[in-house]
Amino acid sequence: MQNTVPTQATTSPNTGCIDLHLHSTASDGTQSPVEVVRSAAAAGMKVVALTDHDTTAGWDAAAAAAMDTGVGFIPGIEVSSKLGGASVHVLAYLPDPTHPALMASMERVRFDRVHRAQRIVAAIGEDYEFTWDDVVAVSQPGATIGRPHIADALVARGIIANRSDAFTGMLSHHSKYYVPHESPTPDEAIATIREAGGVPVLAHGGSRGQALLAPDVFARMVDAGLLGVEIEHRENDDESRRILRAYANDYDLIVTGSSDYHGTGKPNQIGENTTAPSQLARIVACGTGSAPVNLN
Ligand code: AMP
Ligand code: ZN
Ligand code: FE
Ligand code: FE
Repeated sequence: MQNTVPTQATTSPNTGCIDLHLHSTASDGTQSPVEVVRSAAAAGMKVVALTDHDTTAGWDAAAAAAMDTGVGFIPGIEVSSKLGGASVHVLAYLPDPTHPALMASMERVRFDRVHRAQRIVAAIGEDYEFTWDDVVAVSQPGATIGRPHIADALVARGIIANRSDAFTGMLSHHSKYYVPHESPTPDEAIATIREAGGVPVLAHGGSRGQALLAPDVFARMVDAGLLGVEIEHRENDDESRRILRAYANDYDLIVTGSSDYHGTGKPNQIGENTTAPSQLARIVACGTGSAPVNLN
């Protein structure tokens, strides 16, 4: 697919007030969409995007809170994909929330996430007193279920101390309890986001080592329609940021920086990384599936 990104510019990390990667209880954040937007306003943000995993369920409440607080709102999704067994996240800005292919793909992933979580819980239940009801008790109805919900349930049961311990222990990839969930490939996810009028931006591309950043793998994602890369993110190390910057330059990609806020579920703080206004302008110029809210 042709890359149609207008005007190249650079990012200005850690100085701005545009944070385009935030999670709510619609997926695995700990604050409601309204609370997330209010927290962002209190933290001095001028524009935020809600990017819950594989769902648009938080958009309406977040948009209303944005109007109330005077914050600009970009509707977004963090789309799950998988390459060679490794999870790859693709942010989708301004996609059409009714697009049949995108909706169907996200529904499949959400469905399999529940099935996978139930298998993880059943395996843990063989060693500990732990059931699916424990997970339901800590999850918002309809939320995109992930390991964070299982972690919260383990904490509530007193089996572990906090989410982060779960991710380095019982729920890590290396754990005997770990089960993956089904997802499209990054190329499929990117193409579907473009079909839905969205702007696909590779999320924290360096967070799982450099496999994703191999020239042929990256070029295929650009061919599929990738329009941007999240560079300033706490999980991207110096080397992956250098590689991502070089690709952004070579392919004239949009460059973002974001917090990946999950409320109290992760240490990430709103505004710890931010996106330059010029880059937000490119996202808004490319996104045709839905409209920004309250953007001056
Ligand atoms: P899953 O999608 O079920 O494989 O779980 C991975 C998700 O858990 C990622 O999106 C992480 O952002 C999220 N997560 C939330 N809290 C934590 C945490 N404390 N440590 C690591 N990952 C976390
Ligand atoms: Zn998450
Ligand atoms: Fe992610
Ligand atoms: Fe995220």
